[in-house]
Amino acid sequence: MSEPDLAVPLRRRAEQALGDRFLRRALDTATTKFLELRRESFGDFPEGETLRDRAREIKEATLQALDRHLERLVEAIERRGGHVHYATTDEEARRIVLDIAKRAGAKTVVKSKSMATEEIHLNAALEAAGVTPIETDLGEYIIQLAHERPSHIIAPAIHKTRGQVAELFSKALGRPGLPDDPEVLTRVAREELREKFLRADMGITGANFAVADTGTIVLVTNEGNGRMATSLPRVHVAVMGLEKVVPTMSDLVVFLAILARSATGQRLSVYTTLVQGPRRPGELDGPDEFHLVLMDNGRTRQIAGTLREALYCLRCGACLNVCPVYRQIGGHAYGYTYPGPIGILLTSMLNGPGAVKDLAHASSLCGACVDACPVRIDIPRMLIELRKEVAERRIAPWTERTVFGAFARVLERPALYRRAVRAARALQRPFARQGRIARLPALFSHWTKTRDLPAVAERTFRERWAELAREDASGSGTRP
Ligand code: SF4
Repeated sequence: MSEPDLAVPLRRRAEQALGDRFLRRALDTATTKFLELRRESFGDFPEGETLRDRAREIKEATLQALDRHLERLVEAIERRGGHVHYATTDEEARRIVLDIAKRAGAKTVVKSKSMATEEIHLNAALEAAGVTPIETDLGEYIIQLAHERPSHIIAPAIHKTRGQVAELFSKALGRPGLPDDPEVLTRVAREELREKFLRADMGITGANFAVADTGTIVLVTNEGNGRMATSLPRVHVAVMGLEKVVPTMSDLVVFLAILARSATGQRLSVYTTLVQGPRRPGELDGPDEFHLVLMDNGRTRQIAGTLREALYCLRCGACLNVCPVYRQIGGHAYGYTYPGPIGILLTSMLNGPGAVKDLAHASSLCGACVDACPVRIDIPRMLIELRKEVAERRIAPWTERTVFGAFARVLERPALYRRAVRAARALQRPFARQGRIARLPALFSHWTKTRDLPAVAERTFRERWAELAREDASGSGTRP
């Protein structure tokens, strides 16, 4: 799988993405469509705003008693004959899944879309252990064939145009000359995958929710592959972050009412699959064994941490679609499993603040993500916290720390600030034209590489105010 080269600075990765016109076109088309669908969907749903508030309250209340809800979930699943495993780290989660596969003698595994398994790089671990993972969600299937990573939380192949997918299928599946017709391409994928479901020894899925009361694992999909992966193979393993637990079925209904609307603008996803343990006597389908892997991987540390609210996330992807940064550079430029505004927070949660010392600045803090988020997660506030942490822990490069340290000192001292303004006004003269600076020299050139900088005004507000006060005092004022 081609991993992004994290040794390449974020700025360079972003520049590469900005220079890729296919990527820009694919991103613009897809995110604009998602946004319009979301707007329409909430537009004719007056209860939506109240349900968003309610969903937020449920998330907060659940976090406050997470241990109790998890205990109830484990009891309910075990009562129904399922097994629950607890993984503290990604490494432990991989080992648990590999052990289950080994005991089951699994050679082929079908997977439905799961960011949790992407988070732990499960496919690579399965392949290394001689087990063949087959992605069955169309988007995931495309990127598996392309040896890439997902570039969006719900639309993993959002960065590919139809033409690119047709070319990929023609080459990778040995079917030359396929047209860039979505119907034809979907039919081809279905033909390839159908028989794989029947041959697979094990199905691996994520979980959108797990209901503590009933031990129900909930999968929200649009393609029906989720229910095939959970019911056809002998063994079903669901991998889930432990924050996905919801207390009751009534709570689940609140989330279902807003999740699909936020993600794809649908009232409800095409398939909502409820899984309750292995097949019971008298049932016709379902696996012999059911396992839930409850994954911590840095989550519980944040219950009392600065990123607590990020644990509310439903992984709907709406914040990516509205983010002016994501919409331009797409997911791969972020460099980690989770892209977009929420991705920066999750990356810090999983990999520590050092991993996001640059990414924490990849946001205009415009707040569009908060407006779009179904549970109103205050992402900008946490990004500012992260920036502060990066500065305090001295993770940022010394040049950046020195420049911003000096800037902070100037802002804290009014007299110094006034002198700095006067100096900047003099220094900017060779570069300023009609109130804008289009190009700065040397070290500062990055500021003006892609946009103009407003020049320091000929007279600042304070200078003008002082002037007016003087005019008033002398009686010569010409106030409008
Ligand atoms: S932060 Fe909110 S908008 Fe973004 S993926 Fe999570 S739930 Fe969706």
